[in-house]
Amino acid sequence: MSRDRYNSTQHAAEAAPEPLHAFLVGTVHTARGPLVVSSLLGILITYSVYAMIGDKLFLIVFSLAHIVVGFARVRRLRIWRARCDRGLTARDVKDCDRDYLVWAATLSLLLGMTCVVLTAHADTPGAFALATSMCTGFAMSFATGNASRPWTMAALIAGLTAPQIIALLALKIPLGGVWTVLMLGLDGAALLVGRYARQRIVALFHADEANRVMAETDLLTGLKNRNAMTRVSAAALERVQTHPEESLAVYLIDLDRFKQVNDTLGHAAGDAVLIETAARLLAAAERNEVARMGGDEFMMLARLRGGDLEAEAIGQKVLARLSETYELAGAVLSLGGSIGVAIYPRHGQNIDELMIHADRALYEAKRTGRNRLRVFDDELETRLAEERLIANALERAFEQDELEVWHQPIHVLATGQIAGYEALVRWRHPTLGLIMPDRFIPLAEQSGAIVRLGEIVLAKACREATQWPAPLGVAVNVSPRQFTRPAALVAAVRRTLGETGLDPSRLFLEITESVMMEDAPATRAAVEEIAAMGVRFSLDDFGRGFSSLAYIQKYPFSKIKIDREFVRNIPADHVSCAIVASVCLLADRIGMSVVAEGVETETQRLALADLGVDLAQGYLFGRPERAPVVQPAFAPMRRSG
Ligand code: C2E
Ligand code: CA
Ligand code: CA
Repeated sequence: MSRDRYNSTQHAAEAAPEPLHAFLVGTVHTARGPLVVSSLLGILITYSVYAMIGDKLFLIVFSLAHIVVGFARVRRLRIWRARCDRGLTARDVKDCDRDYLVWAATLSLLLGMTCVVLTAHADTPGAFALATSMCTGFAMSFATGNASRPWTMAALIAGLTAPQIIALLALKIPLGGVWTVLMLGLDGAALLVGRYARQRIVALFHADEANRVMAETDLLTGLKNRNAMTRVSAAALERVQTHPEESLAVYLIDLDRFKQVNDTLGHAAGDAVLIETAARLLAAAERNEVARMGGDEFMMLARLRGGDLEAEAIGQKVLARLSETYELAGAVLSLGGSIGVAIYPRHGQNIDELMIHADRALYEAKRTGRNRLRVFDDELETRLAEERLIANALERAFEQDELEVWHQPIHVLATGQIAGYEALVRWRHPTLGLIMPDRFIPLAEQSGAIVRLGEIVLAKACREATQWPAPLGVAVNVSPRQFTRPAALVAAVRRTLGETGLDPSRLFLEITESVMMEDAPATRAAVEEIAAMGVRFSLDDFGRGFSSLAYIQKYPFSKIKIDREFVRNIPADHVSCAIVASVCLLADRIGMSVVAEGVETETQRLALADLGVDLAQGYLFGRPERAPVVQPAFAPMRRSG
């Protein structure tokens, strides 16, 4: 046999069976009870026949035969049950069908021959009656018991009744013709009963199958859902584990800028984007499995033979499809996607590990500029280990009071006076030294530790601010994650103000627009409740994200902070200048002030003042400091750092 032939036959043997067929076969060898009972019944009948005709040889041969058939069937049952547990292949299904038929047909032939023996002793009282009732009774039981396999059913009924009909005619039994017609009629009835039973089984199977498919389908896109993908990936991993020449790549795929589509164009447009994305992924994935894991996150699984290069090539193809523009209700959108990849066996031994690592790679892809693919690697492994270390150490940092609050001044642009400070957290780790917030805030947000961290910073910042001359205020950053427990946030603010005695008008809370994007009523209620205490809010990082001015209308902000990425382009970029000017105009109209962040040069300062910006913060004026020498309010500007 040539190698190709060998491979293709091997493939056929491994192919998944047709589901209905597999299900029906699964129903054959399910219970030992009926098999044992039918053999015992066979022996009982044999003994009854012996009692009528007194033939010892018949008793011995037929009893032995029933015992052998009974044992064989129970043994086959055990073998097939074990194979069903491991998952049947198409070939298994065929083999099982044939195996069952061979032994069931032997039994039916044995019973048929018993009927023939009885018919041969038709003059013995009761013999002929027993033969006839056996034939009809067993025909019915074969019909219902094997309804799911019509050909098996027909073969068994034929094996049972054909010898009897031949005997009726050959032995010239009185009224043999009438009996034959009657038996054929009863067989026909048995076949009909079997047919109806089969129809019901098939209908139930399809209903069940439809339910199963529904439970595993993402209703919006028609892709597999998370449940299905869990099952599919376990099976794929199992397969790859037995094929060392193969590896398995897990891709986590996330649309860039999807939230903006939802927010600007509405959920219907968001849905349309997801549907279109699903179609593109399916097309790009070819034979690989794709699923929607929730939101705008998708997953793909690919069996590889060519290692990392192949994994990257597949991913790049998907990325290319996602970078194509989307056309929706007249708008042309360019979204793009980010992909994180982890490959078995190098990046994880089980699906959970692979998913965690693919997710870390995805995060990195997004962090480093989006519309990228990142394969998990040693560098990320080290970073992940470090992050876990930090995340674990954070709890201890709270206990050991390792968090410090530093302050950066916010200046009035026109006069140079200090209007207040922004509180910025630092972590003084006993061995790692001073850790900047960018390294632990995202981790604390992930783990939920940010809630406690936020409360600690708030308390420290407010306590320190009470030492400053009034009305100098302090601005404290509040993470979106803290709004997932709004009641705790409101309580923390109230408690802190009570404990420190800080005038609420001296406290500002800086929130980013992602807090408001969900537009949860609980978020709005929390903001309003805090505002009612006299605390004010600043919209932080304006210009970094999607930057909708709509929130200004809905939430009680007193300041807008223009992000330093935006300030960086000023005055060179005319569009940025125009936007800042119009934001200032708008803010002025509704009584809000505008703060420019990250002001580093004199040119920026002058340009910002010209554009109408009220306040500024940045290295030009002062870096964050552990304990700044706080000037009396509205003192002349201090130049530093
Ligand atoms: P942010 O709220 O945008 O804070 C301003 C960041 O810009 C600070 O970085 C500050 O040191 C830096 N910065 C100020 N002026 C300049 C400048 O002229 N040039 C440049 N290049 N950078 C400047 P920092 O302290 O590392 O904080 C980073 C971020 O960490 C903050 O960004 C804020 O989002 C977060 N963060 C800091 N402290 C807290 C906190 O207590 N709670 C929460 N939830 N987040 C915090
Ligand atoms: Ca801030
Ligand atoms: Ca900011």
